Amino acid sequence: MFDLTGKLAVVTGGNGGIGFGMARGLAEAGARVVIVGRNSGKSAAAVTALETGGCDAEAVDADVTREGDVAALFDSLRERHGRVDILVNNAGTTIRKMPESLALDEWKQVMDVNLTSAFLCCRAAQPLMKERGGKIINIGSMMSIFGAPYASAYGASKGGIVQYTRAIATAWAPYNIQANAVLPGWIDTELTQGARAQVPGLNERVLARTPAGRWGVPKDMAGIAVFLASEASDFVTGTAIPVDGGYSVA
Ligand code: NDP
Repeated sequence: MFDLTGKLAVVTGGNGGIGFGMARGLAEAGARVVIVGRNSGKSAAAVTALETGGCDAEAVDADVTREGDVAALFDSLRERHGRVDILVNNAGTTIRKMPESLALDEWKQVMDVNLTSAFLCCRAAQPLMKERGGKIINIGSMMSIFGAPYASAYGASKGGIVQYTRAIATAWAPYNIQANAVLPGWIDTELTQGARAQVPGLNERVLARTPAGRWGVPKDMAGIAVFLASEASDFVTGTAIPVDGGYSVA
């Protein structure tokens, strides 16, 4: 039921952090994984790590906020593989500022990376999924649910991605395409290491606030990716699933 052999999986921002954790899970379940990022050295290292583990992977450089890059990515996948079965929209960024200090270009940058990229990739992937069905996994956040003073653009983008996911889940259900959002709690990655360095006491607050009593690690995201990418989730669509050590219910 969880076997992904023969499937082609695209993971944006798959060269590190949560994206790599999900990419590894999908690859170990048998999928060929396409790592998409802007940093070709990091992407090549991710592919090498997967191949060293006996998995099947490739890297494609693309800035997923650019319509032309996204079109070229999916055109090349169509030409070389003729299919896309699984799409994980994981690329993300944040700018920690109070709402009154956020500049318009900063707002747009966060929206572009976290939300518009998912729109562009889903729209480009849909024609490749229509015939055989497909699985779309969009990465939200606890900020899809909760507010935080320094996360206005981030929270807006992550709330938006949940609604976008619900919309495509309803629109594309007739094509047997399931679309779901995953809402990670605090996961130890480059993104949060930056926040930890900037915010005194963040580490202690995360530990106190998370019932599991620890930060998540990228590997914690592998299981949900495999579930949502596999036939085990064929009747699951339009949901937003927290993977947060209990953060959202405490
Ligand atoms: P990282 O900073 O470790 O990874 C972000 C990834 O996004 C990198 O691989 C980066 O690749 C890629 N990326 C950023 N911009 C672009 C772009 N324009 N085009 C292509 N790739 C891009 O962050 P995380 O692993 O922590 O975050 C991954 C996702 O999870 C994000 O959507 C984030 O919002 C979300 N999330 C993270 C949480 C956490 O606690 N860590 C909690 C909740 C949600 P490159 O360097 O090559 O550009």
